[in-house]
Amino acid sequence: MNCDDIRALLAARADGELGAADSLRMEAHLATCAACTDIAARHDGVVRALRQGLRAPALYMKAPAGLSQRVLQAVQAAQAEAGVRPESPSPRAPRRTESPWRHLANWLVTPSRGLGLGLGAGALAAVALGVGVLVGRPDAAALTAHDITASHVRALLGARETDVLSSDRHTVKPWFNGRIDYAPPVTDLAARGFPLIGGRLDYIDGRPVAVLVYRSAKHPVDLYVRPEAGGDTEPTLRTERGYQLMVWRTAGMGYWAITDASADVVQAFAHALRGG
Ligand SMILES: [Zn+2]
Repeated sequence: MNCDDIRALLAARADGELGAADSLRMEAHLATCAACTDIAARHDGVVRALRQGLRAPALYMKAPAGLSQRVLQAVQAAQAEAGVRPESPSPRAPRRTESPWRHLANWLVTPSRGLGLGLGAGALAAVALGVGVLVGRPDAAALTAHDITASHVRALLGARETDVLSSDRHTVKPWFNGRIDYAPPVTDLAARGFPLIGGRLDYIDGRPVAVLVYRSAKHPVDLYVRPEAGGDTEPTLRTERGYQLMVWRTAGMGYWAITDASADVVQAFAHALRGG
């Protein structure tokens, strides 16, 4: 990473949003570059001032009467929607088997705790979001999709799209040798309208993952390839924060293609890559 790369990532660093690989690169660079360290310190200062400002008592208000009941009702409605069966009172279902979500909601709105300590509207929204996430119980694939989307967005923001820049798969494939403990299949799809741009290493679920970078017209298409246990699966489309993902598994490798282009593009990409 050069100074420009570092500076593009400083805001993400101040917000604690850097991935593990970028974090390591960042700290290594800051240890040797006084100019970037100086700018990083200013970023940190701004974030500190913001956090301080958000603690101002004027921003907080007392929870209105009846809020506790409304939050509980919202949690129960969300549970019902998510298909979580409410506990029916029966001799075999004593109080201690009550839904953990209900306890959480109770805890959050008990005056002596959460709201009573002066949580503001923003914090309340965060709490509501947290409850929603918990009730939704995201599966492992959803978490991976979330991580991959975050990684793709960081690359789009200009931090580092490629570690190896080459349209030649005979250059890109060997670049991963010794950097990861598997060999991602690298396919040239230029004839299908998806020229290979290069590759990079990223961290997903705490492990280094090969990312093959393709292009479709002006849009990057990132293909994350990693070993995954389990049988082959057909490509399925996911949408994460407006990004389109196609996800499938072939011969012990999981493939996650993502783009900011339309769903058609990522579907055509997966089709081409799978030799269709
Ligand atoms: Zn620097």
